Amino acid sequence: MSDLTVSNSRCQCSGCEEFFNSLASFDKHRIGRHGKDRRCLTRHEMLEAGMEKNTAGYWVTARSEGGFWSGKEPQADDLDELI
Ligand SMILES: [Zn+2]
Repeated sequence: MSDLTVSNSRCQCSGCEEFFNSLASFDKHRIGRHGKDRRCLTRHEMLEAGMEKNTAGYWVTARSEGGFWSGKEPQADDLDELI
């Protein structure tokens, strides 16, 4: 998958240029204090924080987000992110 796009829930970080599946996952990779030491987590740090890249190539907050991996049906709350 090379054609990653940005939609109203997915976003690309202008700092590290990684793609995120949701604002929650985007927020999770930004640490530190605004105007002080705000920065992005490295890929390694994101993995250590439990974040994963989904099958479409977007970072998610956790393996269960979106339900791609476990084989379970997506929850209603996840549907917006799958469209
Ligand atoms: Zn970033």
